[in-house]
Amino acid sequence: MRCAIVGDGLAGLTAYATLRHGGIEAGEIAVFGEDPDPAAAWRARASAIRQRRMRSESDGHVAPTSFPGLAVREAVRRRRLGPVLRSVADRYNPTVTDFLEHVAEVRERTGWDASHRAARVERISPVDDGFEVDGHGRFAHVLVAPGHPGLVRPDALDGDPRVVHAYEPHGHDGRVAIVGAGMAAATEWLNALAAGAAVVSVRRRPPERRPLNLPRPLFTRRGLAAYHATPAPARAGLLRSWLSPSYPPGRAWDEPVEAARGAGRFSEVSIGTNGASADALLEALEGVDQVVCATGFRRGFRHDPLLARLAAETGLETYEDWIVLAPDATVPALTDERRTLALAGVPAQWAFPAADTLAGAKYAARRFLDRVRRCPTP
Ligand SMILES: Cc1cc2nc3c(=O)[nH]c(=O)nc-3n(C[C@H](O)[C@H](O)[C@H](O)COP(=O)(O)OP(=O)(O)OC[C@H]3O[C@@H](n4cnc5c(N)ncnc54)[C@H](O)[C@@H]3O)c2cc1C
Repeated sequence: MRCAIVGDGLAGLTAYATLRHGGIEAGEIAVFGEDPDPAAAWRARASAIRQRRMRSESDGHVAPTSFPGLAVREAVRRRRLGPVLRSVADRYNPTVTDFLEHVAEVRERTGWDASHRAARVERISPVDDGFEVDGHGRFAHVLVAPGHPGLVRPDALDGDPRVVHAYEPHGHDGRVAIVGAGMAAATEWLNALAAGAAVVSVRRRPPERRPLNLPRPLFTRRGLAAYHATPAPARAGLLRSWLSPSYPPGRAWDEPVEAARGAGRFSEVSIGTNGASADALLEALEGVDQVVCATGFRRGFRHDPLLARLAAETGLETYEDWIVLAPDATVPALTDERRTLALAGVPAQWAFPAADTLAGAKYAARRFLDRVRRCPTP
């Protein structure tokens, strides 16, 4: 068969829609994963933190072409120019409801369900002219989009019954400590305050404030070219610095927090980044009724069994937490004029620092399609 997409989430759907738009038939693509709803993983997490609006902007969608973005779609639907004008000024963030409707529409329109195969892939092995995917057959081109490899919870909190992860269903009660300082943490401050709780924000360092989860130049051709020209050690350093917590600026975030601070319902504790921080964390949590860990996901390909195995069995080049990729998100040692192995989503950060965004999913998907088209049909 021609193409396999391993991972059936939003990056998988973006790749599928891009291939279909590029003329690849549904019967030439197999998508592997356990849930045919491509928004299943995302919806559960967004719903746990009660996310109402996307952090991404009009182009944060899963369709193959950038235009029309979600702002244009909303403008047409509501017969108002407002969304487009806000989008031009980088001040448009679609609602989660609109985004999920759009995902459902792309799922339906592209024929995704016909290509979906309910299976988790444990192993991908290079063979002549392609890859064997775990007993499911041989594919010339494989894109691996497995998402994040599990949630992070500080070890010091093991067994503590007060603890819940922000991306798991929960309410808020009493005095709530929210550990972390990124978008999920900031969303949870507002959720807990709205539920009448008092909030203690526990963080290693003060969060950065920026509209997108990475600096805007990294979404541009020029910014990316500079990144791709950076040697490995400096590149890893840059990635680490960009992955530190951030949430958007704006009064909607600040006003409820400042009002609660004035009323004695919001406070901050900095636990520092050194080895003593486990003790500092436990001390910060004394007297709280609930602990919400807005501490995100495990980092690095070694936490993903499929990628860890692939890297070990094929001796892939890696650097610290990352699989080293070509700028087009392909694995150089396993990609040539006849076959392609590409990564999408968070494991593709070496090629595109904002790989774990919808823009990143599109970046990998488009380059994957280019490769597939350039190769002779098997
Ligand atoms: C709460 C939240 C809000 C976000 N908001 C935004 C936003 O506003 N804008 C934006 O651009 N980005 C946002 N993101 C980031 C990003 O868009 C999402 O994380 C998105 O879900 C990433 O898509 P993905 O396909 O890489 O991972 P997922 O959607 O998690 O999908 C991965 C899928 O692959 C499956 N899988 C894993 N391993 C295998 C295997 N071995 N075999 C078969 N299947 C496998 C998993 O079961 C899962 O279904 C947000 C993320 C979160 C958590």
